Amino acid sequence: MIQATEQEGRHADELTGCAVAIDGPAASGKSTVARAVADRMGYTYIDTGAMYRAVAWRASRAGLNPTEDAEAIGELASRLRFEFRDVGDDRQHLFVDGEDTEPAIRSSQVGNLSSPISAIPAVRRSLVAAQREMASRAPVVMEGRDIGTVVFPGAFLKVFLTASAEERARRRFEELVARGEDVLFEEVLADQRERDRRDMNRTISPLRKADDAVEIDTDPLSVEDVVERVIELLEDRLEERDEAGA
Ligand code: C5P
Repeated sequence: MIQATEQEGRHADELTGCAVAIDGPAASGKSTVARAVADRMGYTYIDTGAMYRAVAWRASRAGLNPTEDAEAIGELASRLRFEFRDVGDDRQHLFVDGEDTEPAIRSSQVGNLSSPISAIPAVRRSLVAAQREMASRAPVVMEGRDIGTVVFPGAFLKVFLTASAEERARRRFEELVARGEDVLFEEVLADQRERDRRDMNRTISPLRKADDAVEIDTDPLSVEDVVERVIELLEDRLEERDEAGA
């Protein structure tokens, strides 16, 4: 069973499926922007990275590793029940089989492991099916690596966020330090480079910008600026669609 938090709001009745697909490399600002756009529009926010992290977390707890146990990890992923729930803080939590995955899935260890795990075809098959199911009930803002290319090639609006490797590593470093992890900036930068390299070069659903996605370089922009830009793009699209239908 798969559930996502549903919210009512402006335009929520006008769109179904994936209203906004936000893709981009690690720490490009996808989560913050996707959450804010979903809040403003009254859409459901879905963080697909959390789902890959959750599989990595559960696989590691079961003593499985992606090099030797790909088949068992694929089976494990197919049995998990994913559910996003609002728990009262500012971010929704992913529950797997009823168990809260936060904050365990946010560690750098789970983040690094999620990259080879997400390259296992059976894992992607199960998670993509779950993601499509979640968007069948309410308009969603979905973020990840392959949303505009594979999960929802027909998404209403596609956005591809980028930022320099140093800026992204700085954001991730600050996040990990705030969480109490003892990490070095150089280590975070090296791990992120490795994760990006894997995500871009895997054979199945590699990270790439969809041809019809709008690319936004977030380096010179504040989060608020990026959110405004995405809302503007969405409002323009809705207007164009309404005019075409009038
Ligand atoms: O976005 P986040 O950094 O939380 O994602 C963790 C990992 O999950 C990524 O490095 C990537 O390997 C994988 N992922 C993916 N496809 C998605 C979302 C995340 O392969 N749609």
